[in-house]
Amino acid sequence: MIVPILVFHKIGPVPPDSHFPRNYVRAEQFDALLGSLRRAGYHGISFDQYLAHRRGTGTLPRKPILLTFDDGYQSNGDVAVPILEKHGYTATIFVVPGRLGASNEWDAEEFQEQLLSVEGIRDLQARGFHFASHTMTHVRLTTATPEVALRELRDSREALEALLGKPVRTICYPWAQHDATVQQLAREAGYECGVGIRRRLNRDDTNVMALHRIPVTYLDTVWRIRWDLFRLRFRH
Ligand SMILES: [Zn+2]
Repeated sequence: MIVPILVFHKIGPVPPDSHFPRNYVRAEQFDALLGSLRRAGYHGISFDQYLAHRRGTGTLPRKPILLTFDDGYQSNGDVAVPILEKHGYTATIFVVPGRLGASNEWDAEEFQEQLLSVEGIRDLQARGFHFASHTMTHVRLTTATPEVALRELRDSREALEALLGKPVRTICYPWAQHDATVQQLAREAGYECGVGIRRRLNRDDTNVMALHRIPVTYLDTVWRIRWDLFRLRFRH
């Protein structure tokens, strides 16, 4: 089974002096992309469904897709979620439990934007959205000591499990930085699945601790993404 994963950060207008404009996708662009995916027959799934498929204990719908959001901005709930609901898509939001309700202070150069609070996460969970870990404080796992990395991975999983009342099996590596050591630490910390960023689709033999995600930016047309979803079926 071929499973694409898309990654977004913020849905909304691109601020003219943003340092990381590629973290933005405009709302009308997002709306058009979801409409196109829906018409093409893509079914939104959760990582639990994906993992059940990889274990051989569950089946996936035809043309599955995982939609993901990094960092857990408040605007995901305000702007992205109503558009997702309009098109009948769920999504997984990777949050930083040590910074809930605060801002993206790990990007010291960038605008500070409000992150989802505990209440915001509970509200979206009740509406069918999924949450998983992006570490406790958005630490760079490849340069942290193994002790710090393991603590960031484990503490964030436990904090989120307490908040959500369910197992948290997926880790999104901050800045998409990971290597074999980080993947092993993530397994030790209790994760069954890890995601980075690479313009590839996932196959049943893709390293489950290093799944590929295609980034979507304000520069990408609907057709660019649709073309990638087609042409990458032939790339390994
Ligand atoms: Zn991040």
